[in-house]
Order: sequence, then C-alpha cells, then structure tokens
Amino acid sequence: MAQRLDATAAQCDDDASVVAQRDAFEEELERRRAEADMEVPIVAALRDGTADPVQPTRYRRGDTLRFSCHRAVSCWNECCHNTQITLTPYDLIRLGRNLEIRTSQVTARYAVPTLHEPSGMPVLRLGMQEAAGARKPCVFLDPEHGCSVYRDRPAACRYYPLGLASVKMKGHDAPEDFYFLVKEPHCKGHEQPKEQTVAQFLENQQVAEYDEHNRDWIHILMKLASWKSLGGPWGKEPDQRVRQMFLMVSADPDAFRRFVFGSSFLEKYAVDPAMRAQLESDDEALQRLGFDWLRAVLFNEPTLHLREHVLQGAIAKARCETGAV
Ligand code: SF4
Ligand code: SF4
Repeated sequence: MAQRLDATAAQCDDDASVVAQRDAFEEELERRRAEADMEVPIVAALRDGTADPVQPTRYRRGDTLRFSCHRAVSCWNECCHNTQITLTPYDLIRLGRNLEIRTSQVTARYAVPTLHEPSGMPVLRLGMQEAAGARKPCVFLDPEHGCSVYRDRPAACRYYPLGLASVKMKGHDAPEDFYFLVKEPHCKGHEQPKEQTVAQFLENQQVAEYDEHNRDWIHILMKLASWKSLGGPWGKEPDQRVRQMFLMVSADPDAFRRFVFGSSFLEKYAVDPAMRAQLESDDEALQRLGFDWLRAVLFNEPTLHLREHVLQGAIAKARCETGAV
C-alpha cells in the first residue's frame, strides 16, 4: 500500500489538471445541486442479511430510544460478527494508538478495501477473522473478554444500534445530520427497559471527538456523492487520481507526510511555520491539512492559500491561455 500511495503522491503534484476538469462544470453543478435532495449514509454497522433492519424513522438528538447493552445480555458480542463497518480516518489513528503501531500498519493488517457507493470513493472496512463456517468474528473480538480495542473502538461500533446519515435539503447550503435505528433480530438490547435520548446515548459512547475529527471527511464524501449523482466532472466514476488522493489522505498519514515534505507542496501552499513543525509528528493535524487540500483542489474551497508567486503565475498563465494579454 505504501508504495502505491507514494506513486500517488508524485501524481498528485499535478493538481492543475484536476482543477481544469472541475472548473468547466462548477457553475452548472451549483445550479443543479441547489435543486437536489441528497442523503448519504455515513456511519452504519450492519450485518449481511436479506431483511433490512434499518427502521424508517429519522431520529434527532432529543428523540428517545429504548436500548441497553451490557455483559449480561444473552446476545453478548453477537453484533461483532460479520459486520460491515466503514473505518473513518480518525478510527485508523485511534486503533493505531491503541495497538501501538503506525496507521498504515492498521490498514494493512486489520482493514479490507471497499467502495463507498454513493461517492465512488475507496474506503476501508473493518476486517473479520478467518473462521470455519459463515460466522466470522471481528479481528478485534476476544471471545472471552469482548472487544480488545474497546477504549479506541471505531465510530460505527460506538454508534450501534444507531446509524448516522447526512441529508442535503433542497435550498439549504449545509447538510443536516440525522440518526436512524438499526433493529436486528439477534440484538436483545432493544428489549431492555432503559430509556434515553439520542444525545444521552451518544454522550455515553463518547462519539463527539470522533464526529469532530470526521466532519471534514464526511463533507468531502457528501460533496463527491452529490457530484456523482449529478454526473459531475468525472462522469459516473471519479478520476483515478482523485481516488488515490482521497485514499492517501484517509488511510496513510505517513505517505501523505512524505508527499507534503518531499514534493513542492510547501512551496505552493502557504503553511504557517508552527503548523509545519506540528505536521512532522501530529497525525491529526496532518489529516486536517489533507482534508483542506482535498477541499481546495476538488471544490475550489478557500481552505488552503496559494503562495503569492504561485498565484501570480497561475493568473498570468490563465491570461495567456484566454488571450487576455
Ligand atoms: S472493533 Fe470491537 S466493538 Fe467493533 S466490531 Fe470489533 S470487537 Fe466489536
Ligand atoms: S445487545 Fe445488541 S449491541 Fe449489545 S451485545 Fe447484544 S447484539 Fe451487540
């Protein structure tokens, strides 16, 4: 994986062609996007199955749910088999910290590549152990003691039996989050008498830190999903370079760090000296920079600033190409 992402870093240095593809479509897309009603599921922990366990009701933070999970339930650990859990970039950092290994090693040892269908982006899914029969336990499940990474378990495990989705309503600029309930027949937690609001449940599960770190990543996935549904700059399938850029930022901070410090990135973008020093060792800060970079390159958002001489060069080149000089 590291080798492939290094190759990506070299390709990514040529941001200009991605920008050129984007600009031709942007105005028309803005108009059509304003008319769209886009809903993207972000965090869900669902087992394979024929019946859809997702309840049709949308939950807000103040709504009440009846649910409790504890060691005495008869289904203890049942939900940690055959799960379909998307790992967010912050999940990977936390798992690496828990296991005292690099994020890229978490990716290589414990994750499986898959596709986030709405956006067409490559993402990672939590791996399952090899086991006889169809019932495969999660790679982190200890049959006796439960989750072996509990303190740093992924966001989807914290959310369960809730899922998180974002919806972009017609005429609204920002997407709105809502929750949905997953009621699977094996989960006896729904039969427990404890009542709580969604907000109380999420606070108990300590999801706020995860939500904060994952927000920009979710924003990027949503916007790409919106583009894909509207037939955006890359048609139905996003450009291969965009997929590789997204995967590098999401799953391999070491490769992205080599790209930032080993390419012309820091000559092109104005990055504060204190921040530069922080980027050398702080994976969260590096991930934030990566999300800013994706937003600037893909959507022309003002999240990163080109250095003055780079900007002037780009303006001169554009004038030349349009015959303005
Ligand atoms: S990471 Fe932990 S909580 Fe999540 S599925 Fe695996 S064992 Fe279960
Ligand atoms: S109650 Fe539900 S969440 Fe808790 S262990 Fe059982 S299946 Fe998993």
